[in-house]
Amino acid sequence: MTRLVLLGPPGAGKGTQAALLSERLGVPAISTGDIFRANVAGETELGLTVKRYLDAGEYVPDSVTNAMVRDRLQQPDAAAGFILDGYPRTTEQVRELDGMLAESGAQLDRVLEITADTDELVRRLVARGQAQGRSDDTEDVIRNRQRVYLEQTAPLVQVYSERAVLRSVDGLGEVAEVTERLVQALDAVVDLREIRLDDVRAGDAVAG
Ligand code: AMP
Repeated sequence: MTRLVLLGPPGAGKGTQAALLSERLGVPAISTGDIFRANVAGETELGLTVKRYLDAGEYVPDSVTNAMVRDRLQQPDAAAGFILDGYPRTTEQVRELDGMLAESGAQLDRVLEITADTDELVRRLVARGQAQGRSDDTEDVIRNRQRVYLEQTAPLVQVYSERAVLRSVDGLGEVAEVTERLVQALDAVVDLREIRLDDVRAGDAVAG
């Protein structure tokens, strides 16, 4: 079972790394941004609701996003684990995800934060906008997305670090290098948990 969250500012490479980790770990990468964009392109009811938020670089309301993720996590392919790319992004979404997982007796295994310098991120996103024609990769909207990330999502780093599931990984460098750092960070969390379990058992033995 691998239940992972990728955190990081727009342009840090979450989508690219989520796809690579998905292949490597054999669990689906679930990108809320991709699902929203597919709905906008398909002009579904959800797409019509969320389009203006995406175009402005603002977050879609939690109620809409949470309902969509709940539905997606109930699909059979997510039963064996998942990599969430771009969710949760607000403390309310963290609470909601905790609830969804608790209902099935599950919890997050790791939260991986991909870090990167803001100037580098803006440069990457402007280049992506030119290459892919994403409507929210224009400089004004990019700046707004970075601002919204700092205000609403950066605080999640602290929330997850207090739960000891967080690892931060440098997102600069070759794609494959960053993937290796992420894979190593997965091991580090497992090691940490094993050490803690041993400590607990040792403590029990002394107490008993
Ligand atoms: P992304 O592809 O992850 O950069 O997401 C693109 C856009 O989709 C964001 O700028 C938001 O408008 C919307 N979005 C994606 N994920 C979320 C989320 N978890 N909460 C709210 N809005 C989201």
